Amino acid sequence: MSNILDCAIIGGGPAGLTAGLYTTRGGLENVTMFEKGMPGGQITLSSEIENYPGVTGEITGMDLMMPWPEQCQKFGLKHEMVNVTRVTKTADTFTIEIEGADSVQAHSVIMGTGSRPRRAGFAGEDEFFGRGVSTCATCDGFFYKGKDVAVIGGGDTALEEAIYLAKICNKVYLIHRRDTFRSAPNTVQRIKSIENIELVLNSVPDEVYGDNMGVTGIRVKNNNGEIRDIEVPGVFTFVGNDVNNQTLIQEDGSFLCDMNKSGEVIVDISMNTSVAGLFATGDMRIAAPKQVVSAAGDGAVAALQVISYVDELLN
Ligand code: FAD
Ligand code: NAP
Repeated sequence: MSNILDCAIIGGGPAGLTAGLYTTRGGLENVTMFEKGMPGGQITLSSEIENYPGVTGEITGMDLMMPWPEQCQKFGLKHEMVNVTRVTKTADTFTIEIEGADSVQAHSVIMGTGSRPRRAGFAGEDEFFGRGVSTCATCDGFFYKGKDVAVIGGGDTALEEAIYLAKICNKVYLIHRRDTFRSAPNTVQRIKSIENIELVLNSVPDEVYGDNMGVTGIRVKNNNGEIRDIEVPGVFTFVGNDVNNQTLIQEDGSFLCDMNKSGEVIVDISMNTSVAGLFATGDMRIAAPKQVVSAAGDGAVAALQVISYVDELLN
């Protein structure tokens, strides 16, 4: 087997895993997925999925993703648990630079590095991060069993995680800067019917404060200038995500392929980037619906392209 991979897949979320399934099952023999953590991606942090086709009943993100790696490995996908630091291309060959290990070469690359939680930018957020400020209800919600917490944001993540926290905590203050939500209408309807969720609307966090033990409260400012102190030991922020595009940054600071102003990778309908043999999938690409099902779909589309691309390149 050549020591140049047919395809390197960067990221092992729904997009990367599906790309792994389709490339290997489609006949490519030398495919490695580089995932710095456990495969599964950010959905493994979600406490409840109700919109993955064919999956009914209550299921966590972890439950949903658990069988995916095993299915891929059955068809020969290799997984290396490493952090990819950079992807470059010289002539027809890509180089995958890896933290603390030798670089690897590949004929094609499918990027699926997803996104990460954004910081909201209020005073005390960084100081108390991990000591009362969190971006993961599944990970940290249990620490606030029977206590009051605040949730910041008005998108699907904030509302869904507020619903999850309301089952564990005494009370949830949902703080949102407008009086309408970005979230799906049925989720908004659900949130309004839950007795221990108080909506604090038209309000932005001004400061999270506390002591040596951690957070003790959050000060919020209403759009009319009113200040309110809410005593809580836990503050969960869900204010959107930033794309993980760092691995595409070249030595001179430019990106390997064309990106939009938000740092999302520009792709066509077949997930082709502006560089031949480089594909981008899932949350990191332009106009991504940011859903598990669409990320998986992107992975499949890119994989089918890769099979033809590698075939043409080598034959
Ligand atoms: P990701 O899932 O982000 O996976 C990217 C992977 O790449 C990660 O595992 C990461 O470790 C890896 N990676 C990143 N950089 C590197 C690197 N340099 N080297 C190696 N590996 C790297 N969607 C739904 O459809 N339904 C839901 O109910 C739903 N709920 C959600 C709840 C929450 C709390 C969150 C945060 C998201 C939710 N989503 C939901 C959105 C869904 O999780 C994402 O759209 C989906 O996971 C995107 O998949 P992806 O493969 O593009 O990226
Ligand atoms: P999002 O949709 O971008 O929502 C971010 C929310 O945070 C918005 O309500 C925004 O307010 C608010 N916000 C942003 N910056 C802020 C700041 N600095 N201070 C205070 N509030 C701030 O992000 P998301 O909820 O994480 O969702 C990301 C994507 O994943 C979306 O496409 C979503 O549909 C998808 N997702 C889907 C599901 C599902 O299908 N069940 C679940 C989770 C996520 P404004 O509204 O005023 O802009």
